[in-house]
Amino acid sequence: MTDKPCIVVFSAHVTDFCSRCGGTVAKYTHDGSKAVAVCFTFGERGESGKLWREREGITVEEVKQIRKLEVAKAAEVLGVEVICLDYDDNPLVFDEARRREVVALIHRYRPSIVLSHWKHEPTNPDHDAATEAVLRCVAHAVQSSPTTGAVYPWPATYLFEPTIPRTEESRFNPDTFIDISDTFEQKLEAMRQLATQVHLMDWYIQYGQHRAWQARDVSANQDIRYAEAFVRHSPWVGNRFP
Ligand SMILES: [Zn+2]
Repeated sequence: MTDKPCIVVFSAHVTDFCSRCGGTVAKYTHDGSKAVAVCFTFGERGESGKLWREREGITVEEVKQIRKLEVAKAAEVLGVEVICLDYDDNPLVFDEARRREVVALIHRYRPSIVLSHWKHEPTNPDHDAATEAVLRCVAHAVQSSPTTGAVYPWPATYLFEPTIPRTEESRFNPDTFIDISDTFEQKLEAMRQLATQVHLMDWYIQYGQHRAWQARDVSANQDIRYAEAFVRHSPWVGNRFP
């Protein structure tokens, strides 16, 4: 058992964890932390347009298999364990059984850090559906240690970048920036493996630079070249300000 923080990312579609927080997660895996990406769907309907356009007659199952192989390779680049729950996307819906499955995963990994989507995403409703479920399941998980009654502290929960470039529409005002200059190339290599959405690499290069610009302005650290942005959801506790 390691004393390093375990980090679990809940991702509506297979590319999301990589594009929005892949650089941050890679920093943790470099430090020896366990990192798990739970993908609720393969993004087979809503985020696989290239396959549908380029391969006439392709089936949903074939799209899922291609995306499954892609995400396995991306996760390997980041040093992340990936779990694909195959809940079907567009729309992503959570029933009682699915919520119980998510609670069970939180109990299994007992993460000290949880990452998920920003909670208001009018341009991609699967994303905020994922986060609504995740935040509820975290609350269930900390309240109900399955059989032992053991106390399980709330994980630090951060919500990552909504769909770019329309983040203002989602009213996303980041309060936390992670400098990913040292893992940015690794993040890009992971995104390259997600070939169905490879166009996103250019988008996230721009946004990585944009968030770094903001992070430099806030911190006066001129060495930050790429950053990822988050909103902290759970309260922070300490005996001094962080
Ligand atoms: Zn997505």
